[in-house]
Amino acid sequence: MQQSGRIWYNIPIMKWTKSLIQTLRENPGDAEIDSHKLLIRAGLARKVAGGLYAYLPLGMRSLRKIQQIVREEMDRAGALEIVSPILQPAELWRTTGRWDTMGPNMFKLRDRGEHEFALGPTAEEVFTDLAKSLISSYRQLPVTIYQIQWKFRDETRPRFGLMRSKEFLMKDAYSFDTDAEGADKSYWNMYHAYERIYARCGLKAVPVQADGGDMGDSMTHEFHVLADAGEDGIAFCDGCGYAANLEKAERKMGNGEWGTGNGEACEEVATPNAKTIEEVASFLGLPADRFVKSLVYVADGKPVMVCVQGDRDVNEVKLKRFLGAKSVALADFGTVLKVTGANAGFVGPVAPADASLKIVADIALKGAKGRIVGANKDDFHLKNVDLARDAKIADADYADLVIVKDGDICAKCGKPMAIKRGIEVGQVFKLGTKYSAAFNAVYKNDKLEDHVMIMGCYGVGVSRTLQAVIEQCHDKDGIIWPASVAPYQVIVENLDPDKEEVTKIADDLESALEAAGIDVIVDDRAERPGVKFKDADLIGFPVRVVVGAKGLANGGVEIKRRCDDKSKMQIVAPDAAVEAIKAALEGE
Ligand code: ATP
Ligand code: MG
Repeated sequence: MQQSGRIWYNIPIMKWTKSLIQTLRENPGDAEIDSHKLLIRAGLARKVAGGLYAYLPLGMRSLRKIQQIVREEMDRAGALEIVSPILQPAELWRTTGRWDTMGPNMFKLRDRGEHEFALGPTAEEVFTDLAKSLISSYRQLPVTIYQIQWKFRDETRPRFGLMRSKEFLMKDAYSFDTDAEGADKSYWNMYHAYERIYARCGLKAVPVQADGGDMGDSMTHEFHVLADAGEDGIAFCDGCGYAANLEKAERKMGNGEWGTGNGEACEEVATPNAKTIEEVASFLGLPADRFVKSLVYVADGKPVMVCVQGDRDVNEVKLKRFLGAKSVALADFGTVLKVTGANAGFVGPVAPADASLKIVADIALKGAKGRIVGANKDDFHLKNVDLARDAKIADADYADLVIVKDGDICAKCGKPMAIKRGIEVGQVFKLGTKYSAAFNAVYKNDKLEDHVMIMGCYGVGVSRTLQAVIEQCHDKDGIIWPASVAPYQVIVENLDPDKEEVTKIADDLESALEAAGIDVIVDDRAERPGVKFKDADLIGFPVRVVVGAKGLANGGVEIKRRCDDKSKMQIVAPDAAVEAIKAALEGE
């Protein structure tokens, strides 16, 4: 510690031997994707239980840096930081009805007085209630409030480490406006802040249109980091830049999807035990697109048959939206049998047992002829089916109901689209008045009349972003941290910690770098250089500086960027090292 005037200050120093860093050689057994493996092997986090992680000192440093970037960009966008409780009273959730509709994803508990609470999975209710109590006049609007707080979700399948965990760090922001125009401005203000956040984290994140779900009006973008390990599919059009989550992505009808056939009458064919499209297709020796896949769903308690071409999958989000239903799910065996007369695999749109069964079909089947459908009789199909002639499907019940595929035609510009995988690292939403109306969160306008505030909500998955950086920035040897979010920007490898003159140079360099605002760790272990370099590559510090007796005798210290190969090593005199390291970091 040094004293300057009356102020005491520390130059932080960190030696590997005191850092609790533990790298692992083996991949954790439950890790399926590279970033999860590296997260654990590099000693950034450790699993406490399924979907629950402790952030170790290295991981914590990166997490704090990401938080700080998020905070600075929220502040720059004019948002106000608060923090609200993780434990949220049930009453608030009952006000919007979400206490029941959130389902088993929400962790619920009681206090000793039997009052019900949730561990916040998000915080629209809490923030709307706060806004209602804080805001009374249009003069206070617009305003955006945010927090960086732990969230809890009882995910069906927690996996991929921090990507989908039960407890995760989220930045959530909520905007309040007097009118739609203002709400639009607030939305784009956050959208642009998000672009800056991901860019500063060294991430390429692309905004894509998404489905608004139950969140009110439909304007929403998700920010995705493209990676094969991503859980979401995204349709991209090079022609016009259209990008949309597959839940939402729309297509135009291409050529060749229209009907074939020459008017022959329907005919029953025996297809014993051939239930799936693949099985019937190979049994009859015909391509999958000649078949109609028919599935029975239950939408808000009512059965409905959904028909799509055999090589297509139903998009349940589109289906739900088309039917205007609150919930849709595949029907159970009993219901399928009752309404069609057959078991799943043999059902179809021609004369189901329940003649009043509603049937909806994908737009590609409009006018389809010469198709094969389930006969509503076990072990049989019908061929030569002309849907318009043989099935009772109203014109208005044809709609875009399938998941877009690679090569489908963009609805905007007519060019073929490509499907890529993405990791959702954030989302911006226009909420309208869904929450403010439920809470009667009103402000008084200049005539002292009450109006409901118009809201938006905006989330960044802070802990998921940490792992998304690893997923996007790594090679076979380990992580390649962008300097802005690396646990330490520089590692100084002291190759001869037992030699006083070498250690002095390494330690002096550490102090000089810290004084220059560059965070650094000194590897002071008495290990072979190979072991030390392997660890440095695995953790992925952006710049590695080697200080050793041999190197010093040959002219100085070696500086190498993690992203460069070995040939790009630079040797500089110890007193020129700080400048050279700075330049190496800036060149990132
Ligand atoms: P997903 O579709 O991946 O389940 P979501 O759309 O339900 O996520 P939001 O409610 O939009 O999530 O939450 C905002 C952000 O929080 C997401 O963009 C994501 O980055 C992050 N997030 C959501 N769920 C998890 C989780 N279980 N673990 C880690 N991060 C999460
Ligand atoms: Mg989302």
